[in-house]
Amino acid sequence: MSEPNNTSCNHDCDNCSSKQNGSCSGPSEEDLRLADTLAKIRHKLVVLSGKGGVGKTTVAVNLAMALALEGRKVGLLDVDVHGPSVPTMLGVKGARCESDGERILPVQVAGVRVISVDFFLEDTDSAVIWKGPMKYGVIKQFVSEVDWGELDDLVVDCPPGTGDEPLAICQMLQEGDTSAVIVTTPQEVAAADVRKSIDFCRKLSLPVAGVIENMSGFVCPHCGEITHIFKQGGGEALAAKMNVPFLGKIPIDPQVCEGADIGHPIMHYYGNTPTARAFISAIQPIMEKD
Ligand code: ADP
Repeated sequence: MSEPNNTSCNHDCDNCSSKQNGSCSGPSEEDLRLADTLAKIRHKLVVLSGKGGVGKTTVAVNLAMALALEGRKVGLLDVDVHGPSVPTMLGVKGARCESDGERILPVQVAGVRVISVDFFLEDTDSAVIWKGPMKYGVIKQFVSEVDWGELDDLVVDCPPGTGDEPLAICQMLQEGDTSAVIVTTPQEVAAADVRKSIDFCRKLSLPVAGVIENMSGFVCPHCGEITHIFKQGGGEALAAKMNVPFLGKIPIDPQVCEGADIGHPIMHYYGNTPTARAFISAIQPIMEKD
C-alpha cells in the first residue's frame, strides 16, 4: 500500500478527508487509493433518474452488459444503498465479495465486475438505516477499497433523485471523463424530473452523455412488433429542448421484466431482440468517444 504524502500538499484541502483541526496534513491513504483507482478507469457513466420505477437499474445493468459484449472491460457500481436491485437483476443476490488481503474483489458476472451493498449485508432483507456521512464513507470505500483493475467503463447505478448518494458519487468521480445518463419514461409528467436531473448535472458541472427514454412502446411477445400504447417521444423532445444528446428509446418488453426477476439481463440472454439492439444503439455515442 502507498504511504500517505505528508510532505507536500497540492490537492483540494477543503474537501479532503485528512483535514483535521483546521490544518491539512496532505491526502489520506484512502484519498491516494481513490486517486489510484480512478486513474485506471477511462470512462465513468453515472446513471440517474428523477424518480424511481422508470427503469434506471434496468438501463444501468444492460448498458454495462452491452459495453462488455463489445469487448470492453466494465465495472458496475450499485450505490443504491437502501434498495440495491442490481444483484437481483444479475442473478447474484446474496453473493459475497472476497478479498486478496489488501482490496475487495468485485463479484464477476458475464465479465462485468460488480459491487453492491447487498454483497456486504448479513441479512439481505434487512433495511439499511444510514445517514449521509455514513453513506458517503461506504460509497468512497466502494471506489477506493475495491480492486476494479483497469476499466474501460465504470457504470454507476444511483438511487432516484438528487440526494446524498448521487451527490457523493458524482463529486467523487468528477475528475477525468465522467458523464451522466438520464433515464426517463415518455410521458409528459416525467419531464419535470428530467429537468431536475439535468439541472443537478449542470450545478455539478457534470456533462450529460444523454437521455434514454425507457418503456417507450410495447414489444408484442408473439410477433415482436412495437406498439405505442402510451404517448411517445417525451424524453426525446425534452432532450432537444434542454440541448442534451438523446441516446435512444427502449421499449416495454416482457422479456426485460421477466429476465430482471430471474437474473437474466436481456443483453446477455436475448441479445438478438429489438430491445437488446436498442441498448446497443444507445451505447454507440459512448463507444465513439474512443
Ligand atoms: P428504477 O431503477 O428506475 O427504480 P427498475 O430498473 O428497477 O427501475 O425497473 C422497475 C421495474 O420495471 C422492474 O420490474 C423492471 O424489470 C421493469 N422494467 C424496466 N424497464 C423495463 C422495460 N423496458 N420493459 C419491461 N419491464 C421493464
